[in-house]
Formats: sequence, C-alpha cells, structure tokens
Amino acid sequence: MKYLSLNHKAPKANFEEATVNGIAPDKGLYFPESFVPLDKLMLETIDLMTKEQIAYEVIRQFVTDSIPKEELRKIVAETLNFDFPLIQINENTYTLELFHGPTMAFKDVGARFMARCLGYFNRNKKNQKIRVLVATSGDTGGAVAHGFLGVEGVEVVILYPSGKVSTIQEKQLTTLGKNITALKVDGTFDDCQAMVKKAFLDEELKEFNLTSANSINVARWLPQMFYYFFAYSELKKLKKKLVFSVPSGNFGNICAGMLAKKLGLPIEFFIASTNINDTVPQFLKTGNYQAKASSATISNAMDVGDPSNFIRIQALYNTTEDLKNDFSALSFTDKETKKAMKDIYKQSNYIADPHGAVGYLGWQKSKDQFPDAVGVFLETAHPVKFLDTVEETLEVKIQIPKQIKEVINKEKKSVQIKNYEQLKDFLQNKK
Ligand SMILES: *Cc1c(COP(=O)(O)O)cnc(C)c1O
Repeated sequence: MKYLSLNHKAPKANFEEATVNGIAPDKGLYFPESFVPLDKLMLETIDLMTKEQIAYEVIRQFVTDSIPKEELRKIVAETLNFDFPLIQINENTYTLELFHGPTMAFKDVGARFMARCLGYFNRNKKNQKIRVLVATSGDTGGAVAHGFLGVEGVEVVILYPSGKVSTIQEKQLTTLGKNITALKVDGTFDDCQAMVKKAFLDEELKEFNLTSANSINVARWLPQMFYYFFAYSELKKLKKKLVFSVPSGNFGNICAGMLAKKLGLPIEFFIASTNINDTVPQFLKTGNYQAKASSATISNAMDVGDPSNFIRIQALYNTTEDLKNDFSALSFTDKETKKAMKDIYKQSNYIADPHGAVGYLGWQKSKDQFPDAVGVFLETAHPVKFLDTVEETLEVKIQIPKQIKEVINKEKKSVQIKNYEQLKDFLQNKK
C-alpha cells in the first residue's frame, strides 16, 4: 500500500518514506491511497484476540513491506505495554481510558509506535543518527520524548516555552536524560514552533537528518485506530450500536476512528467534541471552513483553531452530506465542562479530566438521537495532568500515580536558549 499526498503534487510514498518525511514534499498530508476491509471472521472473533493481535491485524496493511512481520509484531507489543480500561459511567455510557501510558496522555501510543518504526528504519545507520525536533506546549513533548527514550539511532530535541508549561509537564520533559535533550526557550510556544520550522528549512542543517514527530505523521496517526477496536471487542457482547464521542483538537484521534469504520468496524456514529475552538462545528453548520486563532481553555490540549487532520476526514468521504451521516461536531464552554465534571462525579464517583468531560458532553447532548446505542467517550488524559482545575472543580484530592511520582523528585536538566542562532549552534555542535 502506498500513500499519496492530499495536495496531489508529490510522488507516492511507502510507509517508510511517509514516516521519515512526515509531510509530503508538496506540503500535503500523506493519506493511504487505498485499503482493504478487514476479514469479517476477524471482527466476529475479535473478543478472543489479545490487544497485540488486534493491533497487528489492523496496522499490517498500512505498513506492508516497510517492516517485516515479526519486527512489526514486536513494535506493536512494545507500544501497547499498558492497559486500556473501559469503565461504565451509567447505563448506556462508558469511558475508554487512554491515559495509562508513561506520560498519562493518549499521545503515548502514537509516539511509542512512531519511535520504534524510526528506530527500525535507522537500524543500519550507526553513524548517522536521526534527529527528532519538536516544539511543545505541554503534552506532545512529553509523550514524544518518552516514546523515543532509549531508542537507538534517534536523538530527540524538545523546545518548550520557559514558564509556560505546568510543573508536572516540565518535569516530564527535562528529567529523562539519555537521548533526550530539552531546550528551554525564552518565549512563547509560537516562538518554539517558528524556530523548529526554520530549522527544517535551513540548508546548513540538512546533514543532521532532522525530522518532526507531530500528529501529522502517519506513524503517529494510524495506531490510534487501535482504541476503537479495543472498545468494540469489549462491548460486542452487549449487541448494541456503538457511538463514540472524541474530545478533539487536531482531529487526528477521531479521524483514525473513522478510518477504523471504513475498515469494517461496526461503529454507528462519531461525535467530535470540542471546546470553544469550534472551527469544525461551525463548518458543519455553515458549510464554510474558517480557520481562526486559538483561544485558551481549561481543556488546553484542544486549543486548536485550524485542525490539521480535518482534511483527512474529508478525504474519507465524497461529500459533506455523506460525512454528516457518520459524524457531527459539538462545541462546549469551560463552564459547561466544569459542570459536566461535577455531574459525572456525582453520578458515579468518576473523576474525569476536562478533555474527557468535553467528550462526555458530546454524548449527553446526542444520546436521545441514539436510543438503542451505547456511547463511549474517550478519556484522553489522566486528571492529575490538570490537577488544579480538577481539584478545584470537584473539591477532591487526587492521588498522584506512580508515573508522576517517579519524575517529581528528579532533577530538571535543560539548556536555555534565546533565539534561532542558539538553536542552530546547539544542533551543529552536538554532532
Ligand atoms: C492532543 C490531545 C487531544 C486532541 O487530540 P487530537 O487527535 O489532536 O484531536 C485531546 N486530549 C488530550 C489530553 C490531548 O493531549
């Protein structure tokens, strides 16, 4: 299977090329040229399979010859070495917890998978390291850094804005050591992002094999399909229709779910739940896609004004009318989100983080349309990652999980930089 560019002006690429390039030479997103629905028998017997077996069957056709079978099985197993519990909230509502990985955000799965693929692609180039350069406003950097920790042949350089990430997030970025270096930038996230972009275009840095690890990369995007198969394999026995509500920012996660449906997974409907950054809900209402600057909210990992993966969702459907048969998008305020956190806690003693609560709201608002379905909202981060908001809203104390305890007492190590020249100098002298 090959990948085409959604700008249609670049040559087709195989999985290895698409992963290493990140974005196509014409600046388009890579998208599978074609795919084959999964075997019906597999879907009928999915509840008898392990999560590693499910994931392998799902991802195989997207990787094809780029990675041999046994190696791919190993990569999948290493990627998924934690749990994905499905918790019942009320009679027809469940939440799928995606936050049990090393950094307690769902981005761990994509980051771990991509890291191991790149490590494999670089296996014979001992003297030629790949450098992954990422700018982060918080969660992405931690997941990417952790995903790549100890992967041979790959060095990771993370840029984060000084004083603008949470204490826990900073610890997660700066205490890993080994092949991970954190650069603390005097500036905002946008400054970090601008420096990274400049570095990718800098001819004098070509020899350093810079690559990106953002959610546009197919190796980060595709493994997110697994979640929907895992939930289905557990809920199949209910013999009810399934509706997913996905807290969405760049729309990569939900787009992977919609691809899972195209592969034959019987999902009735998808709800993209957003905060007030409502570019996609507005598009569905007006037919007009109007990107805008993002606004800050308590579900800050979804503060995105121009969701990069929405174009992939559109590529899965012929027309917007077709899309609307499978998909809706709803936007919620911080006030509604806090109220939802309280409601969930009252109903079932369940502590949801602000992102999960937005997902819950999407299903609450839609469920009357689906009287014979169960709804699953995805819980994309552990509440401890948004400690202040959660403790204040629910008047509870959250137990600090072991992944966080482990980093809290470690010493932070970072290199302070002020401008692009210092970044360049750092990259050139770290050969
Ligand atoms: C990144 C992120 C999201 C948004 O996911 P997309 O795939 O960008 O839509 C939601 N919740 C959390 C906690 C995140 O870190």
